[in-house]
Amino acid sequence: MLPDIKSITRPELETRLKTWDEPAYRAGQVLDWLYQRRAASWEAMTNLPKPLRARLAEHFTLQALELVRKQGARDTTQKVLWRLADGALIESVLIPANPALYGEASDRHTLCVSTQVGCAYGCKFCASGLDGWKRNLEPQEIVEQVLATERAVADDKSEVASTPPVPPVTRHPSRLINNLVIMGMGEPLANYDNLLKALRLLNAPWGGGIGARRITISTSGLAPQIRKLGAEPEQFRLAISLHGATDEVRARIMPVNRKYPLAELTAALEDYQRRKDQLITFEYILIAGVNDHLDQTRPLAALAQRVHAKVNLIPYNTVEGLEWSRPTDAVCERFLAALEQLGVTATLRREKGGDIDAACGQLRLKTEREAVTQAC
Ligand code: SAH
Ligand code: SF4
Repeated sequence: MLPDIKSITRPELETRLKTWDEPAYRAGQVLDWLYQRRAASWEAMTNLPKPLRARLAEHFTLQALELVRKQGARDTTQKVLWRLADGALIESVLIPANPALYGEASDRHTLCVSTQVGCAYGCKFCASGLDGWKRNLEPQEIVEQVLATERAVADDKSEVASTPPVPPVTRHPSRLINNLVIMGMGEPLANYDNLLKALRLLNAPWGGGIGARRITISTSGLAPQIRKLGAEPEQFRLAISLHGATDEVRARIMPVNRKYPLAELTAALEDYQRRKDQLITFEYILIAGVNDHLDQTRPLAALAQRVHAKVNLIPYNTVEGLEWSRPTDAVCERFLAALEQLGVTATLRREKGGDIDAACGQLRLKTEREAVTQAC
């Protein structure tokens, strides 16, 4: 199999072009087409000589994600379903900057990115793991989610605009997506090498140009990989899907807790914390009758204080076919207040979810189940 052009670094590309006796500036031109103009084919790269385009096509693939379905209106949260080259489906979620969060109105967006097709970790509340794990995403499939989403949004805009159908050329300073959360389908740290490769391409000044501190990796708590990530030079941010502050509560909903119980997870986080000068985030979904009892606030506060974490409380989004539900607003507010009283920095997601805000994995599940129903 040929390597994909969006899985190699600038030095690798330069070396290859040199062996073909191409002038040094060609690498910059190719990268400009890929990461700035988001070209989806070799033919689009009109300032490259045809023989070079043909040669590139002989040695590299240029995969572009195929848009299957988009949910949600412009200027709101939009979910995008992609088809990969082998027919597998994955999702990305585009979230507009929230003036209340960033202090100013902005056309910048956060993209929630998937890293695997399905997920092997089987958390009891999550749609992504319901049909098990299929495969890891390749680096270019992770990178492409950013570029393809920007392409799809640019296409949307040119549909409405009466004037030039030319897609706008996006430069780094105005890149539509300037924040990444690796919180889509899959367990990112179970696809460690491809993830790191993709994030380095998206972070590089000649690539995606997205700052490392604007990239948050969310994990269900793979302790050895957390230690490994702590030893990497980049300052990527880390979020932990905690969802339970005692082994008993956490293991009930997250099987991974049996492999890496809280003591082991906490030790890995302390190690990570010692090496990085940034706050860890604990994500804590509030699920009615499971982890929303005030009993959980003391152990949660103790864990947060030990590893210098802030806590994001997220009322559960119901998933079709699963038994769990979200607590009332009053219960969520009380949980937040109790944590704050214990001296923890915590936030509670208050916006009314609506289906579109539901966690990743659901649109894919729905589409695949519809396809099965239709086939029957
Ligand atoms: N596998 C990684 C990243 C993907 S899941 C992880 O578990 O961290 C991203 C986040 O969405 C996790 O915090 C996960 O627990 C949360 N999530 C999954 N299903 C959800 C649901 N139905 N409602 C709210 N959050 C959910
Ligand atoms: Fe996998 Fe994360 Fe969902 Fe758990 S919460 S099943 S680790 S995607």
